[in-house]
Amino acid sequence: MDDNFSVTLALSKGRILDETLPFLKGMGIQLTDNPDSSRKLVIGTTKPELRIVLVRASDVPTYVQRGAADLGIAGKDVLVEQDGDGLFEPVDLGIARCKMMVAAREDFDYDAAIKKGSRIRVATKYVRSARTHFGQKGVYVDLIKLYGSMELAPIVGLADAIVDLVSSGETLRANKLKPVEEIMPISSRLIISASSLKLKRDTIKPLIDGFRDFSLNKVS
Ligand code: ATP
Ligand code: MG
Repeated sequence: MDDNFSVTLALSKGRILDETLPFLKGMGIQLTDNPDSSRKLVIGTTKPELRIVLVRASDVPTYVQRGAADLGIAGKDVLVEQDGDGLFEPVDLGIARCKMMVAAREDFDYDAAIKKGSRIRVATKYVRSARTHFGQKGVYVDLIKLYGSMELAPIVGLADAIVDLVSSGETLRANKLKPVEEIMPISSRLIISASSLKLKRDTIKPLIDGFRDFSLNKVS
C-alpha cells in the first residue's frame, strides 16, 4: 500500500468526514465501507490508489507531517495550535465553518476588566491562539488548559472567560455565556506534506485540483 502510487487521506469522523464526502463524490470517489457502521480505521475507496484513515481531529496534522498520511483535512483551529512545519495548506475547503471567540459569563464585565488592566482567567483548549490574541491586546491572562466542555469553566468559577469555537451560539446561551470578541474565522483546510507532494505529485496533484474545483463551484 505504501508504494509511490498509493495515497492516504487523513480525516476525522463527524462534521469533517460528513462534509468531505460530497467533495469526494464530486470527484467520482466513494468509500468502500460505511464509516458510521464499520469500526475500521482504514477505509478503501472506489479509486484503488486512495485510502482514508480516520483519526482524531487534532491528530490529523501529525499524521501528515510524519508521512503516515499524504493529505489531511483539518480545521484552522487545529492548524494554528501546532507548528505547521513541512505542511502545505493549498485549499480552504470552506467546510466546518465557525468562529474562534472569547466568551464570558453574561454577568462578567469583560470590557471593564481589561480596561482596568485586571488579570483575567481564561479556560481553553486553544492555549497558543489565546496567548497570541491576548498578548497582542496587552491583556493579562492566566490561561487554564482544558480538553473540552470549556463552557462549564465560568459556571463553576474556574475561569472568567473561555476561548472556544462558536457557530450558532446556542451552547453559549444555554450556559449563560455571551460572545465578547472574535479571534478568527475558522474553516477546514486541505493539508499536504511537502515530501508527499514531491514524491507522489502525479497522484496527488489531481486530488488537490479536484478539491479546489469542487470548493470553488460550491461557493459560486
Ligand atoms: P474531539 O471531539 O475528538 O475532541 P474535536 O472537538 O476537535 O475533537 P470535532 O468536534 O469533530 O472534533 O471538530 C472538528 C473540527 O470541526 C474542529 O477542529 C473545528 O475546525 C470544526 N468545528 C468544531 N466545532 C464546530 C462548530 N460548532 N461548528 C462548525 N465547525 C466546528
Ligand atoms: Mg468536538
